[in-house]
Amino acid sequence: MARIIDIKADRQAALEAASAALADGFAIAMPTETVYGLAADATNPAAITRIYETKGRPRFNPLICHMADLAMAEHHAEFDPLSRALAEAFWPGPLTLVLPLKAESPIHSLATAGLDSVGVRVPKGFAGALIGAFGRPLAAPSANTSGAISATSAAHVEADLGAKIPLILDAGPSTVGVESTIVKVEGDRVRLLRPGGLAAREIEHVAGRPLLRAKKASAAIEAPGMLASHYAPGASVRLNASAVEPGEALIAFGGAAVAGARDARIVLDLSPRGDLAEAAANLFDYMKRADASGVSSIAFSPIPDDGLGEAINDRLQRAAAPRATDKADRSDRGSTR
Ligand code: AMP
Ligand code: MG
Repeated sequence: MARIIDIKADRQAALEAASAALADGFAIAMPTETVYGLAADATNPAAITRIYETKGRPRFNPLICHMADLAMAEHHAEFDPLSRALAEAFWPGPLTLVLPLKAESPIHSLATAGLDSVGVRVPKGFAGALIGAFGRPLAAPSANTSGAISATSAAHVEADLGAKIPLILDAGPSTVGVESTIVKVEGDRVRLLRPGGLAAREIEHVAGRPLLRAKKASAAIEAPGMLASHYAPGASVRLNASAVEPGEALIAFGGAAVAGARDARIVLDLSPRGDLAEAAANLFDYMKRADASGVSSIAFSPIPDDGLGEAINDRLQRAAAPRATDKADRSDRGSTR
């Protein structure tokens, strides 16, 4: 079982235990402001393999490489002026830049899925200090089984991966609560690869141009095969619900009354005051709580699509996407729990 160290109680012990485990090639759970990461030495192929094995994640997916600061990132990636301006404006913070990988970087191809680019980010708080102390970049996807809801607390990590990893660093709930926003500068254009914890309009403000967006996740509803299931609870997910069915869980937003709420199994409001940042911070935890109530379906109220709502809606579309395995078949759940 994983040892859990509260970094507020003993920061030095956490730094030392984490550095030792990372040097030994282990993958450990590391708090960041976005979600908890499953972190390993990005230059050590055996350590990166442990990430994939622990998560059950396909190996062709590149991992974000976390840096202590911009100077460290410049050792591994080639910065164009616009990418550097974005890094200076938003690091440390929930922004990942996809950049050309420098030929001399020791980041292993298992972390980049063999691409000649690398996704880099400088996380806020303890994680940045840990990477500085360790001295090498850490590859870190979210600390949860592949395809499942991302972990935003040490307890989430322990319940999912506690038996598989040696160490969980506990810094309390993640303050942002959704993964980083990923962008790639292409010439004089900036492409949004994934909406996330930094609102697109903040990036547009600094970049001085609109972000190029891929097709919206919601557009893929017309072609369900194109939208991979991710962030999936055990229960099925019903979006933009104006009413809740008896026995369903309801995850509401903005304090609005929802028809049928009295007969719902459980009612949670992501942000009664309608604050999208608060909603993002609560999203994954509330999904887990609704799921743990044993319902077969979770209904979500509509969430506005502006600011961090873009990232929330992206995650919800994926949570609602058809599943490869038949996890959605929880028709027996209501009667057994
Ligand atoms: P996460 O699951 O939060 O670790 O995010 C990993 C995601 O970052 C990948 O699935 C890609 O979407 C993106 N990513 C990381 N590195 C690259 C890269 N070199 N090129 C394009 N996308 C990348
Ligand atoms: Mg993830």
